[in-house]
Amino acid sequence: MGDWMALDQAYVANTYARFPIEIVSGKGSVVTGSDGKRYIDLGSGIAVTSFGIADDAWREAVTAQLSKVQHTSNLYYTEPCARLAQMLCERTGMKKVFFGNSGAEANECAIKAARKYAAEKKGPDCYTIVTLENSFHGRTLTTLAATGQEHYHELFRPLTPGFAHVPAEDMAALEALAEKTKIAAVMIECIQGEGGVVPLSAGYVRALAEFARERDILLIVDEVQTGNGRTGALYAYMNYGVQPDIVSTAKGLGGGLPLGAALLGEKVENVLGFGDHGSTFGGNPVCCAGAISVLSRIDEALLGEVREKSARVFETLKGAPGVEDVTGMGLMIGIKTAKPAKEVIARCIEKGVLCLSAKDKVRLLPALNIPSALLDEAVDVIKEACRA
Ligand code: PLP
Repeated sequence: MGDWMALDQAYVANTYARFPIEIVSGKGSVVTGSDGKRYIDLGSGIAVTSFGIADDAWREAVTAQLSKVQHTSNLYYTEPCARLAQMLCERTGMKKVFFGNSGAEANECAIKAARKYAAEKKGPDCYTIVTLENSFHGRTLTTLAATGQEHYHELFRPLTPGFAHVPAEDMAALEALAEKTKIAAVMIECIQGEGGVVPLSAGYVRALAEFARERDILLIVDEVQTGNGRTGALYAYMNYGVQPDIVSTAKGLGGGLPLGAALLGEKVENVLGFGDHGSTFGGNPVCCAGAISVLSRIDEALLGEVREKSARVFETLKGAPGVEDVTGMGLMIGIKTAKPAKEVIARCIEKGVLCLSAKDKVRLLPALNIPSALLDEAVDVIKEACRA
């Protein structure tokens, strides 16, 4: 057997702190390492494998499309791309979809659409996109500029200009900024994922949406991590009773294949015209076929199960010894532990449970259909690992 870890360390760019595990196979929410060890997967590839590993319906949808045509370029029509766009619009009330390959690209499209809308409607000096402190919107230079965490910016300046950050939950800060700056759009994550699984309050999100609507400032909701059933609603904004102008999503949409989407609402549906934007792989028919399989199964019954499983996790962990706080919504859960999160995660790995981290928290993003028995087994391991 090859030493793929050593090979990876020798040849793959050194940008990821990988766990010392080589995953070779899996089924549903269980993955197997090259040493034969079984793990319960509570990360699902960072909220990507919505229905777990090698899910039968997803695999069939993807392989059926793979056997027909794997790529056409965007010079031609394909059924999966058109059908997926229709499904996304019908389920959100949005009007048009631009497909890319990742969350960062979905946000790039959202930002370009907002900039063009504002330039045409309010003039070329109205371009500022406001995001929140502690946010995360991606790793391209523009989405880094959008990301409200300084430490991601260091050594990569100059970033794309025209971004400003305000503290979350502070309408006065946004109002003060609007006094001196022309704002094209406000972009938020309803739950800051990489920022440590920090949900915004309903009052703040509603006030912000109202503030934006009154001034014709676009509201962009970044649903890259929170989207596609993750929070117990199809999109997290639906938990807040607001209607964004643009929604960006990716991760769980493709169920394991690279796919991002910017959903464009009424105000911006026709802002981007021929040649304004594009992506060679965007809307790839195989990725879209996978996404149709994912999206068509995120129905009320499944969302109810997500909420019910979430409640069980909160119930088990809240107030448990060594657990200081549990945050999040649906199956996007952050655990503030008394011990360093790293130690808890390492202990869980020893016991066959894969968790993620987000800042100083242990983060759980299991597959939406994780069987309750497996989830309970894994949460018991976490509970034990948190104990001092
Ligand atoms: N936006 C949010 C909220 C994210 O959580 C992420 C990734 O973690 C991104 C954007 C970037 O997505 P991608 O890594 O697919 O470019």
